[in-house]
Amino acid sequence: PDIPVHRMLRSTAEQFGSRPAISFYKRIFSYQEVAGMADAFAAALQAKGVRKGDRVAIMLPNCPHYVISYYGALTAGAIVTQVNPMLMERELAHILTDSGAETLIVYDMLYPKAAAVKAETNLKQIVTISLTPGVTDKPEGADESFESFLSGAKAPPEPVDIDPEHDLAVLQYTGGTTGRSKGAMLTHRNLVANAYQSHEFFKDDLQIGEEKCLSVIPFFHVFGMTSCMNLSVLTANCMVLLPRFELEEVLQTIKEEQPTVFPGVPTMYVALTNHPKAEEYGLDSIRICNSGSAPMPVELLKEFERKTGAKILEGYGLSEASPCTHCNPTFGERKPGSVGIGFPDTAYKIVDVATGTEELPRGELGEVIISGPQIMKGYWNMQEETAAALRDGWLFTGDLARMDEDGYLYISDRKKDLIIASGYNVYPRDVEEVLYEHPAVMEAVVIGVPDPYRGETVKAIIVCKEGKTPSAEEIISYCREQMAAFKVPREVEFRTELPKTNVGKILRRALREEAAKTL
Ligand code: ATP
Repeated sequence: PDIPVHRMLRSTAEQFGSRPAISFYKRIFSYQEVAGMADAFAAALQAKGVRKGDRVAIMLPNCPHYVISYYGALTAGAIVTQVNPMLMERELAHILTDSGAETLIVYDMLYPKAAAVKAETNLKQIVTISLTPGVTDKPEGADESFESFLSGAKAPPEPVDIDPEHDLAVLQYTGGTTGRSKGAMLTHRNLVANAYQSHEFFKDDLQIGEEKCLSVIPFFHVFGMTSCMNLSVLTANCMVLLPRFELEEVLQTIKEEQPTVFPGVPTMYVALTNHPKAEEYGLDSIRICNSGSAPMPVELLKEFERKTGAKILEGYGLSEASPCTHCNPTFGERKPGSVGIGFPDTAYKIVDVATGTEELPRGELGEVIISGPQIMKGYWNMQEETAAALRDGWLFTGDLARMDEDGYLYISDRKKDLIIASGYNVYPRDVEEVLYEHPAVMEAVVIGVPDPYRGETVKAIIVCKEGKTPSAEEIISYCREQMAAFKVPREVEFRTELPKTNVGKILRRALREEAAKTL
């Protein structure tokens, strides 16, 4: 339907007002309460002069205030600018200046970062949020606390005319795992479409008003925004919010809240699988685990399911697509190693990487391109990048993939992660899948490092399971038995952890840069 994003909250509040929308450390907020506060927040923004199209930046972990600010800003006609709370000052300044945001809603512990960059941005007001129960004071220097901001509202807000097809709802800055962060422009239609597509895809398993969604992947990331927040709002389901992934706390919350749905990223499932007492926490209340954002190694998927009884449905998406485009279905075959089939109304094909136009036969590896109602309008302030990513109505994802006879998609690697060793293409994912099958390996990543003779060589960086200490030689000779010689890592490094973005993606770029520096 062609409705603005905040209409989803309004409808749910009208029909299921008394149902729980949020559970946050045992505090329950009903849909009526959340919608009421979002309206008050919208009115407060308007009272401060925020008008349609203005950017309102939100820099918060998952908390009730996030949901209220997000829907409130949209109700006021503003464009939500998503800001990852872990950003350093330089990165924060980039997003604030690039977006031109004049209002920032920020977690009070992070206020110093905002204050430090304020002068170089367009910021006019900083509203702070305390997550400490009973604390409503603002830090010194901040303009307002959330509570005093809300009390300045003259509810109801003035209605704003939204054209869902053209008006932007969100600027979603990409995680920057491949370079400079770009603001994907997502319209109201994009986001509403993706929530409806997700519901349509999972409707056999997702009951209206009956589910509890463990919402620990952050809402500032597009996967959490759609799969936890917007989908729960659309389906009148309860979001069990956690501001961060702390293993013990997550397990305890699962035990107490008995969530039924848990969208997550592979590293979260690694952590849960390797917890010695995971089984004791009753993970079997969870019926659906949607895994996305990064590849889910097949071995890990099997181990997680064996231990917990939960079912993992691996899917795929990207910021530019709001984000979901593919998933393994519950209504059809689930194929481990594949990211499944396309969402409703989502077209996709594999094209030749060099030409970008020639469609490849099933089974061949090329770039996956996608079109559908969830595809962004372009990148904010970046015409060249937009023209490269959006061509003839298709989004060029930059991901290498193949499609099987049944239309299931298999993501191999990003074009940029491909290793070319002595002229041979090495797909890191191929090598990583084998490494995950080694009994000592907990996490593994494979990168290319510059080499004067071979161009690049293959390097593996491994985190071992507790108590396991294989040697590099052992890993190399294991690989030799499993793969062609040109793919075998020449170098193996062991670490206790891997650098990750705070949605748990392994930062290959950082590893590559480190490796290049040590040469
Ligand atoms: P940037 O695009 O700036 O590097 P990012 O990785 O954080 O940042 P996102 O939009 O969050 O950007 O991630 C989308 C990418 O994640 C996809 O293009 C793809 O490479 C990868 N991805 C998502 N799901 C999967 C999956 N199931 N398997 C493999 N890769 C995946």
